[in-house]
Amino acid sequence: MNFTDLGLAEPILRAVREQGYETPTPIQAQAIPAVLQGGDLMAGAQTGTGKTAGFTLPLLHRLAAQKPLRDARGRVAIRALILTPTRELAAQVEESVRTYGKYLPLTSMVMFGGVGMQPQIDRLRKGVDILVATPGRLLDHHQQGTLDLSQVQVFVLDEADRMLDMGFIHDIKKVLAIVPAKKQSLLFSATFSDDIKALADRLLNQPALIEV
Ligand code: AMP
Repeated sequence: MNFTDLGLAEPILRAVREQGYETPTPIQAQAIPAVLQGGDLMAGAQTGTGKTAGFTLPLLHRLAAQKPLRDARGRVAIRALILTPTRELAAQVEESVRTYGKYLPLTSMVMFGGVGMQPQIDRLRKGVDILVATPGRLLDHHQQGTLDLSQVQVFVLDEADRMLDMGFIHDIKKVLAIVPAKKQSLLFSATFSDDIKALADRLLNQPALIEV
């Protein structure tokens, strides 16, 4: 299987080629078509399997295929929200979004705690298509009214098992209450405990299941 067999838009394939990737990894070969179809997904994948491109490439494709949305103030609205357990992972994932999306007219932003709110508020004011965030800071912004998640179409929980291990379950539930009910949801986890299965039951609607 080649990347060109997956139906991804040419600007994405070009960015992938520039990375020197020749063939999709097993998780990519399975996740990319599933996400492109628009349904929910539950994927078992460890770090190092190429899971980030597995959700980022089809996410970029889907967003680029549609017009940007505007919020009530006329700014580009957040259409994709990716939650990660740590700031390091958030930064890495957003870097991937930039790398694979470099030839697309989409914008992204990373948001995590432990740094000033104001630069993040300034960035949000300019509008952003794809937000990569850790849960705590995301909720801080929501409480302050500096964040509008009402137009999220795709929601990704990356390393969901680590999020639960780190005690983020309540934060995740709060985020789920804020984002629209009708959306595409993708859950990535290295392990499938009963807690993850319960979260998946709550979040996902007839998900495709992938394990590598
Ligand atoms: P991840 O599991 O998403 O953290 O990715 C692990 C590493 O694999 C990253 O450094 C990626 O740049 C790299 N990678 C992702 N997809 C491919 C691919 N199809 N071929 C070669 N390397 C890849």
